[in-house]
Amino acid sequence: MSTNPTTSSLAFSSLSLKEELVKNLSSLGYEKMTPIQAKTLPELLKGKDVIGEAKTGSGKTAAFGLALLNKLDVKKFRIQSMVICPTRELADQVAKELRKLARGIHNIKILTLCGGTPFGPQIGSLEHGAHVIVGTPGRLEEHVIKGTLQLEHLNLLVLDEADRMLEMGFQAALDNIVGRTPLDRQTLLFSATFPDQIQSISESIMTDPVMVKIAASE
Ligand code: ADP
Ligand code: MG
Repeated sequence: MSTNPTTSSLAFSSLSLKEELVKNLSSLGYEKMTPIQAKTLPELLKGKDVIGEAKTGSGKTAAFGLALLNKLDVKKFRIQSMVICPTRELADQVAKELRKLARGIHNIKILTLCGGTPFGPQIGSLEHGAHVIVGTPGRLEEHVIKGTLQLEHLNLLVLDEADRMLEMGFQAALDNIVGRTPLDRQTLLFSATFPDQIQSISESIMTDPVMVKIAASE
């Protein structure tokens, strides 16, 4: 599925994004921000924790993806950000979109860690290092428990499709993973819906979050 989302009238160039990101966006044909991007990116770039609620297909990946890539210091070869997704398919899609958005950034390493693939080779990949991790809760939890994934330099964490992760029963795994990340991290939560469980997880893992909700008609 690849219908183009509705965009706002705001250009990406109105943000304080790194030049290489802005150039790449125009070569990708991303001219204007979608409503969720226009409302969350200014807050995200200020370093705020953000809860973003908008329907599927509204461009949530680029909203958190651009904030993540803008914050990243590629010269420091260590894990600085992580995106947690409900399924392997969604993690693969997010990694693909991040790599596309990151084309202007040389030597960036984005590693996916999902279940349903052998554990051993993932340890090897982690030993080689990465800047960004994209993965699913169960496998990420296994890695943090075994100590094969160390998150002491993490400064940005994203829970993508948080509603689905909670529905699927990943609350405990998420708590376990988040509990091993630095307290001063920036935490983002994106979701298509906002059930009560999201309210409670956001209270436990976020600091003074900015809430952005885009109506389904926008
Ligand atoms: P969501 O996570 O909200 O379901 P996605 O992040 O998967 O949505 O985005 C849906 C589609 O919109 C993707 O194909 C993506 O490449 C495209 N897209 C995102 N932002 C823009 C933009 N600003 N301009 C044009 N296309 C965009
Ligand atoms: Mg999405």
